[in-house]
Order: sequence, then C-alpha cells, then structure tokens
Amino acid sequence: MKTDTDIAIIGGGLNGTALALALGSTGLSVTIFDASPQDTRSDDAFDGRATAIAAGSRNMLRALGVWDRLSDDAQPIHDILVTDGRVSQGAGTSFLHFDHREVGDEPFGNLVENRHIRRALFDAVADAPTVEHRHPVRVKRLERDTARATLHLEDGTASARLAVACDGRSSPTARAAGIRYAGWDYPQAGVVCTVEHARPHEGVAHEYFLPSGPFAILPLTGNRSSLVWTEKKALAAAAMALDDAAFEAEIARRFGRFLGPVSVTGPRWTYPLSLSLAYDYCAPRLALVGDAAHAVHPIAGQGLNLGFKDAAALTQVIAEAARRGEDIGAVEVLQRYERWRRFDNTAMGLGMDAINRLFSNDLTPVRALRGLGLGLVNRMGPARRFFMRQAAGLSGEMPKLLQGKAV
Ligand SMILES: Cc1cc2nc3c(=O)[nH]c(=O)nc-3n(C[C@H](O)[C@H](O)[C@H](O)COP(=O)(O)OP(=O)(O)OC[C@H]3O[C@@H](n4cnc5c(N)ncnc54)[C@H](O)[C@@H]3O)c2cc1C
Repeated sequence: MKTDTDIAIIGGGLNGTALALALGSTGLSVTIFDASPQDTRSDDAFDGRATAIAAGSRNMLRALGVWDRLSDDAQPIHDILVTDGRVSQGAGTSFLHFDHREVGDEPFGNLVENRHIRRALFDAVADAPTVEHRHPVRVKRLERDTARATLHLEDGTASARLAVACDGRSSPTARAAGIRYAGWDYPQAGVVCTVEHARPHEGVAHEYFLPSGPFAILPLTGNRSSLVWTEKKALAAAAMALDDAAFEAEIARRFGRFLGPVSVTGPRWTYPLSLSLAYDYCAPRLALVGDAAHAVHPIAGQGLNLGFKDAAALTQVIAEAARRGEDIGAVEVLQRYERWRRFDNTAMGLGMDAINRLFSNDLTPVRALRGLGLGLVNRMGPARRFFMRQAAGLSGEMPKLLQGKAV
C-alpha cells in the first residue's frame, strides 16, 4: 500500500491526534500512523490516568471541535491546595492555597479521564475531512531527502513533505535521525487509580508532598477523584501486588478522611517516570512534538499541556510558511517552531525535576526550608498569581489555538 500526504504523523497518542486535527484544520492533508489498533487505545483499560487540561489547552480543544465531545466528563478545578505531609501524620499544616478567583472567573482547568479525551479526539479525527488515521501500522523506518520524507511501514510505504514524531518519550524515530536526549529515570513510579468518596470535593485538587513523592488527589465528575501516588519503585511494585482490601487501606491512609470514607473503583495502573529532553526539535523534514520532544515528571500535571502547546505552535508555523509559499519540511521553517517551544519545555522539565527533588525527602532542615518557602509564596500575591497563570497554561507567547482562535 502507498500513501501520499502533506504531513505524516508517527504515533496516534493524545498529542499525535490533537496535532493532526490542528494541522488538518489549515487544509493540509494529514495521515496518522499508529502501531496499535484504535480499539485497543480506546479501551477503558488502556490508560487509567486523568489529565488536568489547562485553560489554554481547553481553548485549543474547543477551537478544534473536540471540547463539546468531552465537556460532560470534565470537572472544573477551582482551587489547588498544596500540603507538606507525612503518611503517618496525614496532611501537614504548611500549605499553599491557589484560588482561581484571584486570576479571573475561569477555573484553572478541567480534570478529564484520558479515556474520554482519547475517544473525543478519535471521533473528531473520524469527522475531519483532511485527516486519515491508519492503524495498526508500525513505522519501521523513516528516510528523508531534499524533497520528501518516506515512511517504511509494515505494509508498504508512505510519502510526505513533513514527518512529525509523536511516538512518545525518547522517540525511536528521533534517535534514528541522530537526535540526542538529556535526562534520567526517576527512582519513583506513578501508581494511578480512581476513588469514590462520601462527600463532594467542591472542585479542589490536593497535592500532598509525602517523603517518597507527591500524592495528588484530582477531582473528577461526581464524588470521584483520580489519584496519582508517586512512590519509590520497589514500594510501587509492592502496592501493585497488594490485594484489593490492603491496597484500599494504603490509599485511605494517605488520603485521610476529609471527604469521608474512600473506596477504590476499578483497576490500578503504574507508570515509569523519567525526564527526557531532546536537544533538537527538528531536522530536515522531521519535527518532534509531545513526549517525543520532552517527557517530564507529572508532579504539576503539565506534560500533555506542553505537548498541546507544541501542536498549536507547530501548526501556526507551518500554516504561515505554507501561506508564504515556503517548503513546510525545510529545516529553516521548522527551527522557528524549535525556537518557540524548546526553552519553555526544557525550563518546565527542569523546574518539575527540582520541585520533585526538593519535596521527595524527609530531611528535617529541608522540610523546614520548604515549609518556609510554601508559607512565603502563600503570603505573596504576585508569586501566587505567577504560579496560578503557569498552572492555567496562560503564560509565555501563546499560539493562536491556545487563545481559542483559528490558525
Ligand atoms: C502518572 C502520569 C500522570 C500524568 N498526568 C498528567 C496531567 O495531569 N496533565 C498533563 O498535562 N500531563 C500528564 N501526564 C503526561 C501525559 O500523560 C503525557 O505527556 C502524554 O500522554 C504523552 O502523549 P504522547 O501522545 O506524546 O505520547 P504517547 O502516549 O506515548 O503516544 C505515543 C504513540 O506512538 C505510537 N507509536 C510508537 N512508536 C510507533 C511507531 N514506530 N509507529 C507507529 N506508531 C508508534 C504508540 O503506539 C502510541 O500510541 C501524566 C503522565 C503520567 C505518567
């Protein structure tokens, strides 16, 4: 089989599909290639995470016709409460309170389970006249010359003016093109599950900094919350091996009783955590988007939001280049995208790494210092508002799609 398209996207994860819709909205023809069947990726069991979709990302999903397909499953986040604690003592007293009313009427963002985001993106892709989704098709090799990018597939070849690697952290496509990465594996893993509680959460997200790593309680629709329990790898593996009653008891010990009794609903998942930052975001006829360019610690729930910002920025660069009659695969064009996004993503990745190091330990002097720091930020309006704008994804040079405007 032979495919000819303007842009080939390698990887149909959340970033690959969002990027395809964004690029497709400019009239360019786009083909997504993913190695796994869409049914597998749409299954409830495929991905247990929920994403805190920042206000900017929500604007983009709305502009691309995706938001209406998932808004019934979106829980607004009104407040974020950060607490330094110990498991045995529950949440501590030094806290940081972010209240969305300080920076405007809109919530910081919305918590949506990834399964709902994925299905909404797939449905929108199916309705997009300029986007094709081919699956299951593994891209085995990418060849690039002055005129085209050629994808060698399991069942033939595909040719495009530009290939975009959206194939996840430490992208094999990028590495085969000679792009190097900086980063490291974290000694932690993320254990993820959903809980039901007796009392409503009122749209408040909680982050407890426990000695092994952050324990995040993220409000979902109804009396439900998604938990991201960052734990030392060995302990995370032990938690995954517990029977249901013992696992629920460990969760309840960390969660506390502020929302009444808590019960775990459905399965649990575990995710390895690493920092992986690409030195380059492009090469001739190749660009990197999402985790393929930067995989960061989930401590502030920013990974996918950074990817959506990449998608919006790359789309704007490509659309402007196409209007001017430039070659959309030329490295000079793609470097505009790299200049726009690399610094922001690298700074965020390293910032999250530093916060994780600062908070994932139980040394008394460090605890005292960070208690002081949290207390200070809590009392300083401008510092508080800076962090709130970051959380809402409304800082830096905003691509048009993140402002909710068409490209
Ligand atoms: C515990 C946890 C919690 C998180 N919470 C948040 C949050 O609250 N907010 C947030 O913004 N982010 C969050 N993130 C980050 C976010 O989940 C990721 O950034 C995002 O899912 C990455 O998506 P992606 O599409 O770039 O990559 P992936 O999801 O890795 O998708 C890559 C795709 O490429 C395909 N593929 C790979 N190789 C090939 C090939 N050769 N040919 C064809 N297809 C191929 C794969 O099948 C896959 O579908 C969290 C991450 C973790 C681990």
